[in-house]
Amino acid sequence: MSSSLAEKLSEPESVWQNIQDIIKEHINIRSYNTWFSPTKALAIHNDSIELEVPNHFFCEWIDNHYARLLQNAITQVIGEPKKVRYIIQNERRPGSAYQAKDWVSDSGSKEESTSTETRSPYFTRINEHYTFENFIVGDSNNFAYAAGRAVADSPGRTNYNPLIIYGGTGLGKTHLIQAIGNHAMHKFPGTRVYYSSSETFTSHFINSIQQNKVAEFSAFYRSCDILLLDDIHFFSNKGKTQEEFFHTFNDLHQNGKQIILTSDRPINELVALEERLVSRFKWGLVVDIQPPDFETRLAILRNKCEESDLAIPGDVLEYLAVNLMDNVRELEGALTKIMAQVTFTSAEPTLDLARQIVSEIARPDQKTLTIERIMEYTAQNFDIPVDQLRAKTRKKEIVRGRQIAMYLSKKLTHHSLITIGLHFGGRDHSTVIHAIETVERALRSDSALKQRLENMKRHLEFNQ
Ligand code: ADP
Ligand code: MG
Repeated sequence: MSSSLAEKLSEPESVWQNIQDIIKEHINIRSYNTWFSPTKALAIHNDSIELEVPNHFFCEWIDNHYARLLQNAITQVIGEPKKVRYIIQNERRPGSAYQAKDWVSDSGSKEESTSTETRSPYFTRINEHYTFENFIVGDSNNFAYAAGRAVADSPGRTNYNPLIIYGGTGLGKTHLIQAIGNHAMHKFPGTRVYYSSSETFTSHFINSIQQNKVAEFSAFYRSCDILLLDDIHFFSNKGKTQEEFFHTFNDLHQNGKQIILTSDRPINELVALEERLVSRFKWGLVVDIQPPDFETRLAILRNKCEESDLAIPGDVLEYLAVNLMDNVRELEGALTKIMAQVTFTSAEPTLDLARQIVSEIARPDQKTLTIERIMEYTAQNFDIPVDQLRAKTRKKEIVRGRQIAMYLSKKLTHHSLITIGLHFGGRDHSTVIHAIETVERALRSDSALKQRLENMKRHLEFNQ
């Protein structure tokens, strides 16, 4: 006979154990160990269950990723759904409880936060999914990451004010700037953190002029403790907005408030940004984010798969990481497409599927020269089988063809030495460097070879 509801309410620990068992069956063990093992049930009330978690990240993470699963498991074990209330360990004040998404009463609207920020027309919500924890750090972004963390830990109290993050599109600027905001909000509850894209800032400013509300607009932006302003290259040529921003900036800076900006160009290349604004920016620290290297790209993909509890074979992920190099957004887009195919059409996540998706993303109309094409043509030109370029063979004429194909790949594409090495049977970058140096040395004394390579380059560039 199953125990009564009253009994269950008095035994939160064993009830929670049963709920955990169900959850364990539905997610991978690492996610379970990370998020559910450290979580305890403190009490079960008539309408709710109180869960104790180590910190704020847990509430959000569980709520964003596992809310339904958790609710289903609760219903299964207790016999009816319960609201989830999170209590942060060592902070057992009711006021510090995180308000979970309410899956129980379906009204939703009455749960709206009443804080002034959410009501302000100028406020843009920070995306809670962008955290330091799910930002993969590699050589390309570690400096920006470290500076971001330092600022998030002591906003306004470091020399990095403003902190300016610059990098090409899709490389993680928005993710990082919002991670700073999320971290600071959790570490210092009550801190007023405003995030805005520069485009939104501009359009709010224009609206405020039209509606005669410039004073309110200024007061709003000047009331924050941390201002996150994304994509300031958008301010180029917008004189009046720049002027307004200049005053806001000075005001915040004088009052020790933290300012963090992002830009897709280095600050001194932002033409049409007023000189005085540029010189203000120099008070702080500028950090850049470069396109990620192969290992970082692969780690990003692996992490995304894990977050979504999706098993994609390693060679498929590697194929994506080798072929989509310039932009994390594109990389994620490819993975999302694969996930969609797998989920909705029960396609297998195979290399062929990955190839098809990469070729769609790589836009056939903007054909660029690929390493494969260079290998194919070089093999043909030197009359050797193309697969020998990837093989271990040390035969003299094969080595020569391979070195020339590597050299041409470096000269004619933007791929890194690591990527080139990977195409040639997974050789490491020092082998590629050696190949390039050997060819360059030969070219200095061998004019026939020089002529031959010139012809090859021309052929490749014109007959892709
Ligand atoms: P940007 O603002 O520079 O154009 P985003 O911050 O919007 O780029 O990043 C594009 C996507 O790539 C986002 O979904 C982001 O989460 C992801 N991304 C970028 N860099 C990383 C990283 N280092 N680790 C994990 N995800 C990343
Ligand atoms: Mg962005």
